[in-house]
This record gives sequence, C-alpha cells and structure tokens, in this order.
Amino acid sequence: MSKSLQAIRGMNDILPQQTPVWRYLETTFARLLEAYGYSEIRLPILEFTDLFARGIGEGTDVVDKEMYTFLDRNEESLTLRPEGTAGCVRAVLEHGMTGGGQVQKLWYSGPMFRYEKPQKGRYRQFHQIGVEVFNQPGPDIDAELIVLTARLWKQLGFANAVTLQLNSLGSSEARARYRDALVAYLQQHFEQLDEDSQRRLTTNPLRILDSKNAQTQALLIDAPTLHEYLDDESREHFEGLKARLDAAGIAYEINPKLVRGLDYYGRTVFEWVTDKLGAQGTVCAGGRYDGLVTQFGGKPTAGVGFAMGIERLVLLIETLGLVPSELNPPAHAYICAFGEAAELAALALAERLRDELPGLRLLVNAGGGSFKSQFKKADKSGARYALILGEDELAERMVGCKPLRDDTEQQSIAWDALAERLAACLA
Ligand code: ATP
Ligand code: MG
Repeated sequence: MSKSLQAIRGMNDILPQQTPVWRYLETTFARLLEAYGYSEIRLPILEFTDLFARGIGEGTDVVDKEMYTFLDRNEESLTLRPEGTAGCVRAVLEHGMTGGGQVQKLWYSGPMFRYEKPQKGRYRQFHQIGVEVFNQPGPDIDAELIVLTARLWKQLGFANAVTLQLNSLGSSEARARYRDALVAYLQQHFEQLDEDSQRRLTTNPLRILDSKNAQTQALLIDAPTLHEYLDDESREHFEGLKARLDAAGIAYEINPKLVRGLDYYGRTVFEWVTDKLGAQGTVCAGGRYDGLVTQFGGKPTAGVGFAMGIERLVLLIETLGLVPSELNPPAHAYICAFGEAAELAALALAERLRDELPGLRLLVNAGGGSFKSQFKKADKSGARYALILGEDELAERMVGCKPLRDDTEQQSIAWDALAERLAACLA
C-alpha cells in the first residue's frame, strides 16, 4: 500500500469492534464524575507552544523530546497538546473561572499527542480522561480524587489488579533543598550514572529517581530521600491525605521515588499501577500543582488533578476478560422487502415502529435481493426476528415475523399490532 494510505506510526484507528468498549469506559467515567459533582470542559487540541514550554517545563521529556510542534501559516508556533492540564489552566484563567476563590471541579477527555517510541500501551496519539480541581488546597480533595478513581476501578471490575503509589514532593523550597542534596550526592558518583541521568543531573535531577537503569537505581539506595527534606506544612498535608485514605479503606504504598514526569507538581503525587500490562503499567497519574497558575501569571490558585490513559484501561479490561458481554447488542429485527411497492411500505413501517418504540434496534434491508439473500443478511445481522414484506403481505397490511434465534413458527402480524408485539422483545 502506498505510504500516504497508512496511518501515521503510533496513531491508531479505533475500529467499530473496539468503539463499544471505549464508549463503555467513557460513559462509566462520565456518570461517575457527574455523580461527584464534576462538570465537563472541552478544550482545543492545539495551543501556543509557549503554554506547554512554560507550563510543563523545559528540561522535561515531554517538552524537550515529545511535542508535535509546527509553525502555522501565520508563523506562530503551535503544539498538539501532549496533556490536558496546561490547556485547562489557560481556559479557566482566560474565562475568569477561578477569580475570587471560585472552586472549579472539571473533567475532560480526548486525544493527546507525544512523539514517543510506539509500543504496547504507548502511542503517539493516545487518549486521556482527566480531572482538574481549582481553589481547593486541602488534602480532602486529594483524597476525593483518589477515592473516585478507586470507585471507578471497582465499577470496571479490576480493583484488585491495580495498586496506589503515593508520595509528597513538598514545597518548591523543600524540593530545591532536596535537589541540591541529591545533586551533591550523585555528583560523587557521576561516572557510574547512565547517560540519560548524567544529562538530567543538570537539566532535571529529580527525574533521575525514576531511571530504569539498574546501576543508577543501585546508587540511589544510599541517596538522600525527599522525605527528609519535606517542609512541615507539606508533611501535615500528606498526613491528612493518608488519614483520609485510611478512613476510606484505600490501601496505598508510599513510593519516595515517585516524582512524575511533569515539572508542575508539588506536594501530593500519585499513580495507579498494574502489573498486568507489562512495562506500560501506569493507568492513572496525577498530583497537586498549586504553583502552576501563578506560573501563567494568574493569582495564587490551588490546583490538583489526574489523567488516565484510555488505551491502557481498554487493554486492561480486555486482558482481564472484563468487557461486559452486552456492549454490542444485536438488532431486534431486520425487515426484508421484495419489490418496489413493498420497499416503500417497509420504509414507512420502519419509521412508524421507530416512533412507537424508541429503543428498538431495527435494520431495514437495502439493495434489494432475492428472498434467500435477504434472509441470509437478516440472519447474519444477528437480529432476533426477520420481518418479511412481500406482495401478499402488502395486500393484507401484514408482515411475516420469522424468529431467527429459535425454532418457533413464523407468524403473520398486522402492521397495527406489530409495535405491541415487538415491545415484548424490548422488555
Ligand atoms: P509514562 O510514565 O507511562 O510515560 P507519563 O508520566 O508520561 O506516563 P502522564 O503524562 O502522567 O504520563 O499521563 C497520564 C496517563 O496517560 C499515564 O499514566 C498513561 O496511562 C497515559 N499515557 C501517557 N503517555 C501515553 C502514551 N504515549 N500512550 C498511551 N498512554 C499514555
Ligand atoms: Mg511519558
């Protein structure tokens, strides 16, 4: 096939047999979020490049290596959003939604773009569902976000396949003190660090903590830990969060090396991780970003949020066999019509049935065909009944109703009685 007829590497079509699972996830999530009092916000896919450079931060993988950036016809540098938080902060500031301490509890979903090495669970166009809360500085809301994700896992049926990892990054001052201590320690072992970590020692030293390199990890065993440097307020915030999770019966694992890839986090960070998907095991990640709004020139505004990767959640529920069987129900009935007069009557009858039975899944044969071929199509569609409309039926204002999934006899049903009879199969 010519190259122009292939999708871009790492950008997937979501085919008709997959969309029901996607919709199941999306609607389960949307319903849950609305039940907790969150509102949906829809944001552009393109933003000015500067928004991400400033928001996510230079020196992060996302900004340095992963963004799809281009000049538009007006020579402005635009970027396909690699994540949702920066755009959401931009939007609430632009529309004055956080002024005067207004609380906002928002959710969004949609495609994100990162130039990564495509592999299972990691794509260049992927989809996130995200939540952001503004002007709620306390650990109570951090706990609510975690509690509602835990409920989602329970609803989806894999609560026992994910674990919660938790950490506090402290205040930016605490982080700066810790960064100095970490750099001083690692500098003594510079030669033993992997190449990426050597580079990060100057650009983004905290990221060294989640290096995958075994030798680097071994060095980190004796490195100073962030917790020794936590400020009192952050410590108190963290204790508050843990107490709430304990009260809600949510198990967690403190992971002092959890630092997250984006620069804007402080205090709470968390990830929900599974061991069922191989290397791409983080299905949901988030944290607190109280400094981000001021970074964009807004008034100090607390912010906290998370995002989950829909592809990874789909993979997980498929891997665990948790896709509900009734997601793609077959049609209730399939109308076969023979001859033009019958086709016209079939169309009118179908519309009437759809008026009378709004939940009816009704297929109408298109493209004509012999009795045998239409019947075959009706059968293949999975429909429960074939409704047969030929010359004789037309003359008598009846249809032949042939059950396709059991051996019961075909019956003649008057058009006027058909809705009532089909209503029984909707129940
Ligand atoms: P990772 O460590 O897996 O690269 P990340 O820290 O870069 O993830 P975030 O920016 O926090 O990820 O995004 C939140 C969630 O979005 C991730 O936990 C993951 O489920 C999903 N995600 C991130 N990048 C991708 C990708 N390239 N393909 C598919 N899903 C992704
Ligand atoms: Mg990443």
